Amino acid sequence: MQIKSKVLIAGAILSLLALTTMQGYLTFNTYDLRKKSFAVESRQKIGRIVKTSYVDSLSWYYRMDFVKKIPEYKNGNITKQQLLLELENAAKARNDQFLEYYKQGAKHFNLDDRVLFKKVASTIQLIDKKGNVENLIVENKNEPVFLLGNNFPLNEGLLINNWNWSFNEEFDNSNQENDTVIIKYRASLYMKIVDWDKIILKQLLLLFFIAFLLLIFLITLTTYSIRNLLKLKRVSDIKTDFINNITHELKTPLATLSIATKTLTNKFAKDNKDIAEDSINTINRQNKRLQNLIDQVVDNSLGYNDIMLNLEQVNLSAFINEVCDDFSLTISKNIQFIRDIDDTDKEILIDKFYFSTTIINILNNAVKFDGTVLKVKYFIENNTHIIAISDNGIGISKKNKKLIFGKFYRVSEKNIHNYKGLGLGLYYCNQIIKAHHGTIDVESKEKEGSTFYIKIPLDGRKEHFISR
Ligand code: ADP
Repeated sequence: MQIKSKVLIAGAILSLLALTTMQGYLTFNTYDLRKKSFAVESRQKIGRIVKTSYVDSLSWYYRMDFVKKIPEYKNGNITKQQLLLELENAAKARNDQFLEYYKQGAKHFNLDDRVLFKKVASTIQLIDKKGNVENLIVENKNEPVFLLGNNFPLNEGLLINNWNWSFNEEFDNSNQENDTVIIKYRASLYMKIVDWDKIILKQLLLLFFIAFLLLIFLITLTTYSIRNLLKLKRVSDIKTDFINNITHELKTPLATLSIATKTLTNKFAKDNKDIAEDSINTINRQNKRLQNLIDQVVDNSLGYNDIMLNLEQVNLSAFINEVCDDFSLTISKNIQFIRDIDDTDKEILIDKFYFSTTIINILNNAVKFDGTVLKVKYFIENNTHIIAISDNGIGISKKNKKLIFGKFYRVSEKNIHNYKGLGLGLYYCNQIIKAHHGTIDVESKEKEGSTFYIKIPLDGRKEHFISR
């Protein structure tokens, strides 16, 4: 059972960890996929906005403005920088129109306004009649010329597409001869998604929330199951202990009974009156012992709702003194028994039989668990009757203090099983005190001793009848 439940618990924790990791992985994957598909969708929508005749015509105009300036460059009237600036300015002059168009298109295609667009000229080559190539700008080498859209840094953007275009321009060169130049031109389209993570997170918020709730549910369920398993195991251990203890307790009287009956049936004993009488006494004693044991199990198992109290008005000081008088007769002279009982005139409604049973049970335990100095103290504090019973016995560990009032519970640390018992005494005391509307608890230090406190409010039980 021990190993089986440990394996089960380890299995449950490992499964939970595996599930959590898997869920984390799947969630991350979903996030990543959503991010990618958002980029693909945005790219398609941008394509629909910019691949239109309107944008084409805008581009045509600034390209033509640029082309017209090429003869001036070829004839040495303007520099390369001035030529490229011409292209940039010609495009810039149409950018406001483009941005407005893009805005409308974004609205139309339901494109998030945090998706920005940029168009640049990334390559421009001039090829003369003889086939000589002059590179005005080379892709990935020179700074591209910004054309349309939002001018964000290129390293923050994603490349959507490249467009190639070429054009033959005829012109008169510096020698007044007719000349041609081929313009090869490549435009690159980029997009940038501002707050990409935030957009996706917002879209997946519900999914993440449900995943989180499921995880919490799973953790709670596993914790609950493990706790239940441990509880069941504890109950099963307690029951096994109880069966062992009661078998142990039954063995001695039964063995004695067997010897006594054998003696009685022995022919020699039949003729000897003294021996026969002795055996009959032994049988009677053991019979009584067995009866007591069974009564103890039956009575001490009662819950506080099942205890029928016969309440009487009692002066607790006098009553405790009486109980102590009786108890002191039963203990050996080596035990020091101290009383510190306040003389109060307050009366209390108690069942004398049950109440004395409780005090005697605690005192018997004090002796049983090696107490040699016992003390019974009684006083009233904060409108409460307090009976404190202390001993200098073996004490109770912190872990066990809360458990000893449980049914059948016995401390199972090594050595402790040398003390006989069924683990019902304190359970019974607790039920009796509960039936009196009071509480019982313990303060203890291992190897130093224990103090049990019985506390009953001054107005504990008011009704004067036999209650159920
Ligand atoms: P039992 O005495 O039959 O074992 P109880 O219900 O009276 O059962 O007590 C439960 C357990 O509490 C005991 O087995 C013992 O371990 C612990 N206990 C009770 N009283 C004392 C005490 N005075 N000193 C140390 N341990 C105690």
